[in-house]
Amino acid sequence: MVAQSTTKRFEELLEKHQLKKTTARLNVLSTMYGKKSATSQPELESVLQDIDRVTLYRILNVFEEKGIIHKVFDLNGTANYAVCSSGCEEHHHHDEHLHFNCKVCKSVFCLNDMSLPNIKLPAGFRAEGFTLYASGLCPSCSSKKA
Ligand SMILES: [Zn+2]
Ligand SMILES: [Zn+2]
Ligand SMILES: [Zn+2]
Repeated sequence: MVAQSTTKRFEELLEKHQLKKTTARLNVLSTMYGKKSATSQPELESVLQDIDRVTLYRILNVFEEKGIIHKVFDLNGTANYAVCSSGCEEHHHHDEHLHFNCKVCKSVFCLNDMSLPNIKLPAGFRAEGFTLYASGLCPSCSSKKA
């Protein structure tokens, strides 16, 4: 069960984005916000078994469109979704921070405080966004290795 105050926060988030407050959406939000790393659709499916695939797919799409979550890829190339920082708006993401891929647990982490270096592209290239990945061991896997 989700604590009452947390539910309130997610309800407000949906309201802010003019989304209907459905139980499915609230459950997806609380699952994603409860994790330190990004979450893949199969992972969400296994946790939220009462939401069917199509609904889940639509929820993730609309959240991404609204600037609530952003897509990141793990080392297997699987799409994962991570919660956005507050700077994101509808159709306008500002998730230019470093992402970390753990080789062991395959989790993807948003390192929100690590902004990307200013990369100057050759003439003629117009980037709409940058994604930079670091890979190695996450804190929990590296402490297990030690
Ligand atoms: Zn974003
Ligand atoms: Zn790890
Ligand atoms: Zn991120």
